[in-house]
Amino acid sequence: MDRLYAEASLNRQELLVVLRHLNPETREQLRALAHRKRLGMYGTKVYLRGLIEFSNICKQNCLYCGLRSANRSLERYRLTPEEIADCCREGYELGYRTFVLQSGEDDWYTAERLVRLVSGIKRRFPDTAVTLSIGERDDETYARLFAAGADRFLLRHETASSRLYRALHPTMSFENRRDRLAALQRIGYQVGAGFMVGLPGQTPEDLAEDLLYLKRLDPDMVGIGPFLPHHATPLKDYPAGTLEATLDMIALTRLLLPAALLPATTAMGTAHPYGREMALQAGANVVMPNLSPLAVRPKYALYDNKICLGDESAQCRFCLERRIASVGLEVDMGRGDSLKSLSGAV
Ligand code: SAH
Ligand code: SF4
Repeated sequence: MDRLYAEASLNRQELLVVLRHLNPETREQLRALAHRKRLGMYGTKVYLRGLIEFSNICKQNCLYCGLRSANRSLERYRLTPEEIADCCREGYELGYRTFVLQSGEDDWYTAERLVRLVSGIKRRFPDTAVTLSIGERDDETYARLFAAGADRFLLRHETASSRLYRALHPTMSFENRRDRLAALQRIGYQVGAGFMVGLPGQTPEDLAEDLLYLKRLDPDMVGIGPFLPHHATPLKDYPAGTLEATLDMIALTRLLLPAALLPATTAMGTAHPYGREMALQAGANVVMPNLSPLAVRPKYALYDNKICLGDESAQCRFCLERRIASVGLEVDMGRGDSLKSLSGAV
């Protein structure tokens, strides 16, 4: 672990040795090293992003996800471009300078509509960064959205195990997912990859593969959260990923990719009341408070028991500020670009 701290690299064998020897003592060491690395790279700052979940309509059918198209029990919604712009205005007034627009794979939002939406937001709020998290599209659509002003794109790789990926994604392909991530990087986006921890059938070898893949891809951001079951999916009876294992992966990612932006995810806050605080002390340096209208929050049900369903956007903003301060860190409301993108390496 000391060598990992110093060199930001380990081979597969070495990663597996670390993963197999995690116990309460070594875990604490690992988290402390990751926290020290984060302080060295990003100081005590935590970047806030306003998350707008603008449609829960999805044509895909990922086995773990409550938004999957086969889930007929979910009431579907789609915010209009005007409603999304209103969320941005409220967010802007609360101080947010990054908006994350996330949705299922909803084809009503064509390239044209998305281009109009993104360019409208960038025109009204020129000092903000716009992040898209809308799933897989073709090169041309990604390029047009980038030209319209989208700065960043979150597309988790979900798992770097081709066996597991195939088992969990009946309507998508492992190769195409990786190809889309490569396309986003080529076009010039700041790219966020990421994965779930504790997926049914996931082994330490699979998790080592996730870390090795991330090291090769070298994304600007990495979203990591526990798998959490949703009652209306085929994985409803599987146990959730553990907080401990997820914290291990966040800490290892901080050490392997020191310059990455790492969110303390909502799934972490759902897994444990202080899950996000613990992530922030194990290498994470971003949080994404919810800016979606209250009426739609319960409908964006990726998994069961999702937190923050009843809190106004302003409450989320200040609740998180308190939580961040409680672990000795401080909110930074700036755009919060990754160190990689600032160094011009993108
Ligand atoms: N449709 C887009 C964005 C929305 S889903 C996409 O798939 O890229 C956003 C993320 O939620 C997914 O990448 C997945 O990692 C996570 N997610 C979905 N279902 C989940 C579950 N049951 N437990 C934990 N995370 C989940
Ligand atoms: Fe759709 Fe994304 Fe859920 Fe898959 S993870 S079903 S693509 S919303």
